[in-house]
Amino acid sequence: MGDATRMTVGDRRRWMAAVAAGGAVAAATSKASPPREPGRLPPRDMNPHEALEFLQAGNARFVAGKSAAPNRDIERLREVAPRQAPFAAFLGCADSRVPIEIVFDQGFGDLFVTRIAGNVAATENIASLEFATHVLGAKVLYVLGHTSCGAVSAAAKAEPVPGQISALFQLIRPAVRAAKGDENVAIQENVRLQAQTLVEASTVISALVAAGKVLVAGGIFDLQTGKVEPVEIG
Ligand SMILES: [Zn+2]
Repeated sequence: MGDATRMTVGDRRRWMAAVAAGGAVAAATSKASPPREPGRLPPRDMNPHEALEFLQAGNARFVAGKSAAPNRDIERLREVAPRQAPFAAFLGCADSRVPIEIVFDQGFGDLFVTRIAGNVAATENIASLEFATHVLGAKVLYVLGHTSCGAVSAAAKAEPVPGQISALFQLIRPAVRAAKGDENVAIQENVRLQAQTLVEASTVISALVAAGKVLVAGGIFDLQTGKVEPVEIG
């Protein structure tokens, strides 16, 4: 069957609206794919590398001021309400300036996001990301740090802090030590360290990676430019 049969209800409505407006008559009569806004719906048959490229394209749109803000309407919510199948899962910092769906120009049902100060791979985050990949089928496991990360700089300062804040520090300090006093390097090392922990501490995730079903990736979100710079995961 053709592409039209795979359209969601939301797709079909938009397509019909476009046809009614005269913008897609040629596509409709030639049975070509319906017009699709940039990044509107992630292809369901993406492999992990294509899924990563799809994310990077979303960040490029955001940086260029051309966000499509896809999948953010009530129709999309209704579409994914019965079942979710996010194509990527995240371990990101809880920082208010790093909202992951906006950074990568995605919407409802696209990303499974865990956020925690310092994007540390704590046990409960690992469990959540095992669920995202093993059960829900996310193809990319992305660790996202960011410039000016308060959790990393606080871990580096090692000053007394109230409550349970210092619980984060022990997970970040190996990265701080490896960076030898350079805060930007510490942020990169922290992304590498947490990504490695995700794989090494989880037999579920390491098996998916070994089978080529999940790609582990990392990046640093620049608060000045909005760009995510990739970090090579060792
Ligand atoms: Zn942070």
